Amino acid sequence: MAIIVQKYGGSSISDIEKIKFVAKKVVERKRQGNKIVVVVSAMGKTTDNLISLAKQISSFPPERELDLLLSTGEIVSVALLCMAIENYGEQAEGFPGYFAGIKTDALHTKARIQKIEPSKIIEEIEKDKIVVVAGFQGISSENAITTLGRGGSDLTAIAIAGAIKADICEIYTDVEGIFTSDPNRIKKAKLIPFISYEELLEMASSGAKVMQSRAVEFAKKYKIPFIVKSTFKDGEGTMVKEIELKEGAVVSSVAIDENQAKISIFRVPDRPGIAGKIFSALGQAGINVDMIVQNVGRDGFADLSFTVNINEIEKTKNIVEKIAKEIEAEKIITDPDICKISIIGIGMMNQPGVAGRMFSCLGKNGINIEMISTSEIKISCVVRKKDGEKALIELHKEFIENK
Ligand code: ASP
Ligand code: MG
Repeated sequence: MAIIVQKYGGSSISDIEKIKFVAKKVVERKRQGNKIVVVVSAMGKTTDNLISLAKQISSFPPERELDLLLSTGEIVSVALLCMAIENYGEQAEGFPGYFAGIKTDALHTKARIQKIEPSKIIEEIEKDKIVVVAGFQGISSENAITTLGRGGSDLTAIAIAGAIKADICEIYTDVEGIFTSDPNRIKKAKLIPFISYEELLEMASSGAKVMQSRAVEFAKKYKIPFIVKSTFKDGEGTMVKEIELKEGAVVSSVAIDENQAKISIFRVPDRPGIAGKIFSALGQAGINVDMIVQNVGRDGFADLSFTVNINEIEKTKNIVEKIAKEIEAEKIITDPDICKISIIGIGMMNQPGVAGRMFSCLGKNGINIEMISTSEIKISCVVRKKDGEKALIELHKEFIENK
């Protein structure tokens, strides 16, 4: 007998047929002698639709009520899945997040879980019931319903798995697991059987989004292993867990992020405090800066380039223009025609020469590198957008196929 937490994402339960399919799957698992807690997202695009309803009333709806509205999406899924489970002859008990003991802070729309009191969940699974919990939501100490940020059902599932000391946490989705690269673009992309939390986090920040990053961070912090697998196709999926350096792949995945844009400020006075001024202003405006490159200063000036999400380029430009005037920098150029290409692998930490191999591979293929950034387990390069696809294919060949 095992205690299993299963999470089904919105695309796995987007219509009644799929809900029935999931119910059957859950019931079969239970009848193998397991205790099951299911966490569900809202059906299909429900959350987007609810947001759009709110936006038709106000472009900045009150966040407390927005959370109340959004939380209903997951509750619909809970109720329907419970009904479908009961149809297959098992008893189900459905919980909205607040009833499942998920306590959060009051930061509406992106609340953090503070603690979980799982006694009600445990009580019900002990009575041999299947417990179905609404993902993505909790309750604040002010007794308001909160939500955990987009994709937050992943976090609900991981946190519950930790709180009830589940034997396994299974994240069911519309892909078969985590791949060495985007299988829609790279035909030879392979399923990765196991991967570390760190690599998955780096993948998310490199444009390969499979799971909510906050959920992965939570899993890493509390060492909660989980499996990502497909709802509709049988397979082993990908196990995400702590991995020892020596068993990790040098490069486990190659990712592309085409939603980046570059902004360059020319002839910035080369004196202390200037970079601080620019990036603090961006930070205060909530703009996430990714790569930063400053060239070597000459006659008291330096050029500064950095990347931001393409959707924030106008906002960034407005802020930077103001500061550029103040500090008397020469000019600003924005460039949306770039992309970021990254190789990720925990085994990189004790293997020299990986960066050289990456740069040579790009060079051999006539791809110019405009910016570089590295972490212990990732190397990223900014290249022209038109070169992105080729870079992805060639790096996948170099590091994964011909390994
Ligand atoms: N329904 C929420 C969203 O679309 C939460 C989730 O899917 O995990 O973001
Ligand atoms: Mg989701």
